Amino acid sequence: MKHEHTLPQLTSQQLGRYQRQMVLPGVGLDGQRRLLASRVLVIGAGALGSAAATYLAAAGVGTLGLVDGDTVELSNLHRQILHDTDDVGAAKTTSGAERLRALNPDVEVIEHFAFLSSANALELFRHYDLIVNGSDNFPARYLVNDAAVMTGKPLVDAAILRFEGQLAVFRPGRGCYRCLFPAPPPPGTVPDCAQAGVFGAVAGVMGSMQAVEALKILLGMDEAEPGRFMIYDALSSNWYRMPLNRDAACPVCGDSPTISTLIDYEAFCGVGESAIAAQAPSARARAVSATEAQDLLKDRNVTIVDVRDPHEFAAGHLPGARNVPLEQLDQLAATHDPHVPILVVCAAGVRSAYGAEYLESRGYTAWTLSGGFSGWQASGQDWTIA
Ligand SMILES: [Zn+2]
Repeated sequence: MKHEHTLPQLTSQQLGRYQRQMVLPGVGLDGQRRLLASRVLVIGAGALGSAAATYLAAAGVGTLGLVDGDTVELSNLHRQILHDTDDVGAAKTTSGAERLRALNPDVEVIEHFAFLSSANALELFRHYDLIVNGSDNFPARYLVNDAAVMTGKPLVDAAILRFEGQLAVFRPGRGCYRCLFPAPPPPGTVPDCAQAGVFGAVAGVMGSMQAVEALKILLGMDEAEPGRFMIYDALSSNWYRMPLNRDAACPVCGDSPTISTLIDYEAFCGVGESAIAAQAPSARARAVSATEAQDLLKDRNVTIVDVRDPHEFAAGHLPGARNVPLEQLDQLAATHDPHVPILVVCAAGVRSAYGAEYLESRGYTAWTLSGGFSGWQASGQDWTIA
């Protein structure tokens, strides 16, 4: 980022355009000048990138890079709002850049009509201050993470599937995606948006959140924040937090990294070009039904961990369950006997899937109860009130 004295002066047009955000504490004239001097790389001109890039351009981020090697398809339009019906068949970078330039001529939009790869990522990232990731598959998610760590760039990541979204803010030196999930789930265990569907407006929520978090970082707000990993469940209208701490043993950002150059991410994720598994927020962990869970509990010594908040737990839970809210799961992961498997339970199965995946990545055997406590009750199983 540039020093104050080299920041651009605002024209009277710009004073008018950015008036309503310059009056905000933490923005002001200097903040606006900083935004105009900032460079953000948006990976994917798809669903998330549409919302994120639109708000970044509108806010006056001076340089926006758009990376995408795809063309616009009719089935994209219900969620990829950078593109119009007339754009079907056009490169997404071209169509997206046209829209962004029309919205705000202050913004220099740089079109990178290519798919991000191990060959081009580091070189691209070096030209930007911050990375916004809207790519929709695991190989890209790990590639972007590793390249952001290696180039020391803050990364605002998001993913969507069905009615869920996840949002992560990774600041250099304060933890990365691999600190949470060192390796991807096995190929074939995760559906993609084509198979499972996606609620278009959820992409708007998550892409807009990416713009919010990116702008805060560019403006120097929230400097003390270690990082964030949040889950949005559109069906219950709730947000949940996961614990995010830098892991000293992380293979990329840890004390003794074992990965110091970009690797072959499709091989790492175990996928061929024909079947690239997509990011699926809640579909990562091994799920069991209420009946299967009942059998597990009968046959084995299993710890039941309920990751809901205490007030939800108090209103009813599985007999013998222990309450560890999702955002405190790191405390359980540090102390639990690794020989005792864990059944993770929440209200409907969204939080517990993340919890089970988190525990699995820390060496535990964990299952998520699909349908959650409400499914458990509906199936007629025993439950209790504290
Ligand atoms: Zn890490």
